[in-house]
Amino acid sequence: MPVDFTLAPEVEDVRRRVRTFMDEEVRPTEEKLRDREADRNGYVEAITGLRRRAHDLGLWNPHLPKEWEGMGLGPVAMAFVSAEAGRTGIGPFVLNAQAPDEGNMHTLLHHASDAQKEKYLRPLAQGRSRSCFAMTEPEVAGSDPTLIQTAAVKDGDDWLINGHKWFISGAKGAKFAILIARTDPDADPPQARNSAFLVDLPAPGWEIVRDIDTMAGQGNHCEIRITDLRVPAENMLGERGHGHLLGQARLGPARLAHCMRWIGQAEVALEMLVDRALKREAHGSKLADKQAIQWMMADSAMELYAAKLMVLHAAYKIENKLPFRQEVSFAKHHVANALWRIVDRAIQVHGALGYSTDTPLERLMRNARAARLVDGADEVHQQTIARNVMAAFKETGSTRSATGDLL
Ligand SMILES: Cc1cc2nc3c(=O)[nH]c(=O)nc-3n(C[C@H](O)[C@H](O)[C@H](O)COP(=O)(O)OP(=O)(O)OC[C@H]3O[C@@H](n4cnc5c(N)ncnc54)[C@H](O)[C@@H]3O)c2cc1C
Repeated sequence: MPVDFTLAPEVEDVRRRVRTFMDEEVRPTEEKLRDREADRNGYVEAITGLRRRAHDLGLWNPHLPKEWEGMGLGPVAMAFVSAEAGRTGIGPFVLNAQAPDEGNMHTLLHHASDAQKEKYLRPLAQGRSRSCFAMTEPEVAGSDPTLIQTAAVKDGDDWLINGHKWFISGAKGAKFAILIARTDPDADPPQARNSAFLVDLPAPGWEIVRDIDTMAGQGNHCEIRITDLRVPAENMLGERGHGHLLGQARLGPARLAHCMRWIGQAEVALEMLVDRALKREAHGSKLADKQAIQWMMADSAMELYAAKLMVLHAAYKIENKLPFRQEVSFAKHHVANALWRIVDRAIQVHGALGYSTDTPLERLMRNARAARLVDGADEVHQQTIARNVMAAFKETGSTRSATGDLL
């Protein structure tokens, strides 16, 4: 099947404008902020200023349609914009296209009623609120949402919810949560057991136990204890028993959005590797002249190129309403692992400096480790990929349709 990644001239223009904004305003501000991280007020002020500036430049909400105060870009154009924004830590937030809000906005756009959209999507789109997505639980494997134990029981016109969640990104400060809970424990298939709810926050019965300390510090990935939380019936999001479907529908594009940002990070790491190798001298020549270092550059360049093609192809399939799950799994697995290897090589070429906190590489590496777990662990994507390869072979005698359906 032919694939056309040509960008319309206006999208090429957006990409150039995002790059310029990131290079000239966002990155310099981020670097200044890193130097004086303790100044909380200054930090908030600077970020708020940059968000206003994104608005003024017409770069706000690239992922949302125009009627929701967005730029109306499709997934292919978004791949370019997010990769540009992902080259800085705060870039996605400055454009209001950060996880988990970006995925939640898509979810609301496609599954919320008109009244829910006005109440929850509008403030998110305007940058007046933040949200979180609460699915994973400490007691059961997050890889298998049919095991979810948080239970919602009908009580008059309300749902009464009890349970326990963790690693809920953005929970501190969120104005609402999309909460996945079990409403139909005996449903068959088990994928029909869960439903999604919109929970106004803060709420009695929704207790933030802690901001979990991770290898990348406290990143607002919270543990939540839910005790007799009362949610009105009209706050169910989508249909009863569709919590699993909604989660899957959300995760396809949300996973890809992560990949796009990771490509920006991998690009930064490769550029740092090359820069360092061209400047540093050892044993009579520049590091860049050594074949061992050139292999690292070559491996990283090839992996980054494959990452870009995979992401663009998956985005192209979503945009053209073609089946995309296999390609999103390819991309999620490949980009997460490529990011890790590319950052690791960049650290190696920087020597002790790479191990220090003087460059962004160590932070990139600590964050990159989560990429192989979030939105589906590596092995879960490999399982999906293998299943699709076998199904294609059984059906057609060929694996072609499960390997990108290209040649
Ligand atoms: C930084 C961060 C942010 C997160 N943000 C959110 C959030 O906002 N909201 C939310 O709901 N969750 C969030 N999560 C949770 C994340 O989605 C889960 O960690 C993930 O789904 C895996 O679930 P688990 O941790 O329970 O691991 P488990 O499901 O217990 O899996 C553990 C390991 O078992 C292996 N495994 C699992 N299934 C299979 C299989 N079928 N075949 C082979 N091996 C397998 C894999 O190696 C896997 O890593 C976040 C996690 C992190 C690290």
